[in-house]
Amino acid sequence: MSTMIVEPANAAQTIDPGSNAAESKQVKFGKADGFMQALRTRIDVYFAETNQSKRDHPRMYLKTAVILTWLASAYVGLVFGGFTWPVCLGLAIALGVAMAAVGFNIQHDGGHGAYSKSPIVNNFMAFTLDVLGGSSFIWKRTHNIVHHSYTNVTGVDGDIDLGVLGRLSPHQPRFAYHRFQHLYLWILYGFITFKWQFRDDAMALIRGRVGETRVPRPRGWELAKLVTGKLLFFTLAFVVPLSLHSWQSVALFFFVASFAEGVLMSVVFQLAHVVEHAAFPEPEPGSMKIENSWAVHQVETTVDFARNSWLATWFTGGLNFQIEHHLFPQICHIHYPAISKIVEETSAEFGVSYHAHPTTSSAIRSHYNWLKKLGQSA
Ligand SMILES: [Zn+2]
Repeated sequence: MSTMIVEPANAAQTIDPGSNAAESKQVKFGKADGFMQALRTRIDVYFAETNQSKRDHPRMYLKTAVILTWLASAYVGLVFGGFTWPVCLGLAIALGVAMAAVGFNIQHDGGHGAYSKSPIVNNFMAFTLDVLGGSSFIWKRTHNIVHHSYTNVTGVDGDIDLGVLGRLSPHQPRFAYHRFQHLYLWILYGFITFKWQFRDDAMALIRGRVGETRVPRPRGWELAKLVTGKLLFFTLAFVVPLSLHSWQSVALFFFVASFAEGVLMSVVFQLAHVVEHAAFPEPEPGSMKIENSWAVHQVETTVDFARNSWLATWFTGGLNFQIEHHLFPQICHIHYPAISKIVEETSAEFGVSYHAHPTTSSAIRSHYNWLKKLGQSA
């Protein structure tokens, strides 16, 4: 197996020791060019000068309490409130939006080890994904390793692979019906949660792989967490509601909440990587080498949005600063607005293309335009 070249500073941040990331078609990046080293030095100086810790920010604990209270209130109101159906519809949407907020803010930082210095706290926060019907065990191997290392590399990054349903990368095949994908994909995005709740995790465990990446079978503590998570999810989503309500209303409101969660999660992801200005580099066919260094690749395949919006930053857990997240996934997202200035300036200095859409709506328009372009031209 050939050695994957990553800048040493990032290897520790994004790739687990003992992972099978290098198996992913053995994509290799260009040699370190000093860009990441300069960024790391400047970011470290920023934290030293402002006397802040990269993790365990008090605002994160407060934010977690607010979001979990919101989630619990919507759930309790919906299941035990005895409200009329229009109120229940509103509560189901509020529950879905809260579930997305848990994913963006709590699970994502925990899963990356960005929440706290304590692995116990990080694992506890990451476990919120299991309670929502996913698997933190599988997520750490697909999102943390594959998506974060091989961002927008067609055939490797599973996050840009919708199969035959959509064409997100110019290197994917185009089918006639893709000319309407800028219209229909928004609806399909809502089904992504059902897909991982009921299909993807089970398939990953049965096959022992996701795409090209091997997923080892969970054992011991990891297996116990996975089983406990699934039991909690099915109890909260179905067993408790079905003891009080008809299966039709349980199915309807489960659908509404999961659909709202799916649309929000998919769209926030797409706005960062599947828009105009995001690069989709192809490795050289023989050597599987990508010319840019890993860090330059991360910046050029990612686009920030709405950097001046407090609401976008708060709700998406800093995923509107996705360039900064991809470079420094182990720094708590509370710090991204401040460090984005350093990243933007350093990118300009090194001639790296740094792009940001000014608002959420301009980023949504850009995703729409990209889908339309790829659906209508080869
Ligand atoms: Zn991430």
